[in-house]
Amino acid sequence: MASKRKSQQTPPESAASRVVEGALEPDEQRFDRTFRPETLDDFVGQEQHKQNLRVYLSAALARGEPLDHLLLCGPPGLGKTTLANILAREMGVNLHVTSGPAIEHKGVLTGLLTRLERGDLLFIDEIHRLTPAVEEALYPAIEDFRIDVMMGEGAFAESLSLGVRPFTLVGATTRTGMLTKPLQERFGISLRLEFYPVSDLQKIIERSATKAGIRCDPPGALALAQRSRGTPRVANRLLRRVRDFAEVEGNGVITRALVERACLRLGVDAAGLDEMDRRLLRVLIEHHDGGPVGVETLAAALAEPRDTLEDVYEPYLLQQGLLARTPRGRVATRRAYEHLELALPDEGKASQGTLF
Ligand code: ADP
Repeated sequence: MASKRKSQQTPPESAASRVVEGALEPDEQRFDRTFRPETLDDFVGQEQHKQNLRVYLSAALARGEPLDHLLLCGPPGLGKTTLANILAREMGVNLHVTSGPAIEHKGVLTGLLTRLERGDLLFIDEIHRLTPAVEEALYPAIEDFRIDVMMGEGAFAESLSLGVRPFTLVGATTRTGMLTKPLQERFGISLRLEFYPVSDLQKIIERSATKAGIRCDPPGALALAQRSRGTPRVANRLLRRVRDFAEVEGNGVITRALVERACLRLGVDAAGLDEMDRRLLRVLIEHHDGGPVGVETLAAALAEPRDTLEDVYEPYLLQQGLLARTPRGRVATRRAYEHLELALPDEGKASQGTLF
């Protein structure tokens, strides 16, 4: 179906170097592209979303119209950019990739919009980080395919309405909560990507290993999947790192024993938590009696920005039931004590209802 597809990339911001980090490191981009599924059939898991997307694609293609504007939500590394690539390919249109912070002012947005061909996909990563002025300028483009520009200066300035070819906006965000209501309401389709079950991650690892010529037996792939924090990008990254151990210290095959050994060296435990996750839980338990602790206090104690804490560390800990959010702050759960093999607090504290 793909005919004139091309991708124009604005590089994403660099992220901390962390084996289990969901965000993309710049040096990883080539490797990442090798693994990226190109069709919906190749995209593992998220079955309900895939079924619905197939319907939307068929309907749009049959009508000869662009796909409806689409919002993709979910933590980093779950496949939002991959899905945008797939949709452009299946529609046979160009994909233009940018991000909220990269669209610094209205002029940049106008430039992007006027370059679009009919039906093209404009992918805006971190769409929650658009400035209010740019966001406002985007509204008429989304709704009526036009953008208002100011011509001239001072007393001679006049507003001109420029037509934009019908296109599809694909917005991606790790934080639905930070999206303004008016922007949210302008998307016809909204998909929330969830963490992947271990069985899907195992499939992704086996598929990536085959593509990259890495030998990995099924128990080895399962062991990697269990340590991948429900995130395909982490699964691929762990595969790449563990391959080095297999080649240098083993016979080149990734086995369960090798994964266990390598992950120990990488500081990744059996649940996929790394040193930073464990530090977060320890700060809660050892310095604050398990909580509740405000997110700002926690961020200061870990010397990490609040955003990183909320986008990168917390989602998986919350999903695993190791951390809980309460109106008064973050709380370490019973599971967190058990995972870190720390003694549970005395009955009195637990019965106050602050902990479990
Ligand atoms: P996001 O945009 O949500 O941060 P990406 O789309 O960049 O995540 O996905 C990260 C990597 O994970 C991709 O390069 C791709 O190789 C892999 N990936 C993501 N989702 C899937 C999936 N469902 N099936 C197979 N691989 C996937």
